[in-house]
Amino acid sequence: MRKTVILACVLWLAAVAVPILLWGSPTDGAERNTAAPEERTEIAENGKTEDSRAENSQDAAVTVHVMMAGREVSYPLDAYLAGVLAAEMPASFPEEALKAQAVAARSFILYRMQHPPADGVHDGVPLCDNSAHCKAYRDITTLETAAALFGSNSESDRNKIRAAVRETDGVVLTYDGDPAMAAFHAIAGGRTESAEDVWGTSVPYLVEVDSPGEENAVKFTETVEFQPDALRETLLGAYPDAKLGEDPAEWLTEMQRSPAGMIKSAVLGGMKVSGMELRQLLGLNSADFVLEVRDGTVFITTTGYGHGVGMSQYGARAMALAGADYTEILLHYYTGCALDSLEMLEILAEN
Ligand SMILES: [Zn+2]
Repeated sequence: MRKTVILACVLWLAAVAVPILLWGSPTDGAERNTAAPEERTEIAENGKTEDSRAENSQDAAVTVHVMMAGREVSYPLDAYLAGVLAAEMPASFPEEALKAQAVAARSFILYRMQHPPADGVHDGVPLCDNSAHCKAYRDITTLETAAALFGSNSESDRNKIRAAVRETDGVVLTYDGDPAMAAFHAIAGGRTESAEDVWGTSVPYLVEVDSPGEENAVKFTETVEFQPDALRETLLGAYPDAKLGEDPAEWLTEMQRSPAGMIKSAVLGGMKVSGMELRQLLGLNSADFVLEVRDGTVFITTTGYGHGVGMSQYGARAMALAGADYTEILLHYYTGCALDSLEMLEILAEN
């Protein structure tokens, strides 16, 4: 049960943090993802898309069941993965970063297939296309749908995404021989967080590692302003028993930080709160932040973007630009994991 809760958190946070940064607001994302369900069903009924026509594709031998617009749709893994990759990382990123992202997403999908959601969550179908719940997905099955996402670069971007999937065909990140819960986020802020610090349960391969080279990311740090009265109202709305005095600089005390910088817990006007709760409540980029008051205005400066666990996408980009290949990127961010071949895993036999 506890594991299910943790997994739900991972899914939500992994899915939410990234598309918001890279593709605009959640509303924008939802509007882009407007291909009719019938279209998708047709893809599924045809059995194989052009992504799957490569001979001996291991991905194409796996069928993924996804709840889309209230209907269960089945895709060959490679076709589904291309749509997930299109939604999760800009096609402008280096090829090796895209390949690392493809493997991370493939592993996450396979993990989810082996650990499906509890009863009552999209009728037991392993995945859905809600970025606030499972995995974001963008339809790039045709040039027309790709153009809606990529604009003028649609053909080359689509080719690059599909190549990252094809060139890592069947490659799975594993731990102890099983697909890894390959969480990822946009920007770690210099060092990744452990699953234990963020979600309260340790996962042996989701531990802190350095994440250099992210400093050029647009949202590596970001400062947002709050007027004290509005901030007080928001905080009291969530914590009505908090005692907030005149000086906002004194509202948040006793901050306990993880070694990587995230606020694990703090005291807000006498109430114990977590950094993750404050992040969500105030719409902050991350739970690694400092609060300052200048000239009567509250400034909150965040470092990093997302939950900070697992692979940093901008860190992967930096490693790729420095010459690392996708295997080096993955093995750096997922401590103690290995890269295995899909055909060696039981999931093919179960599928
Ligand atoms: Zn879902």
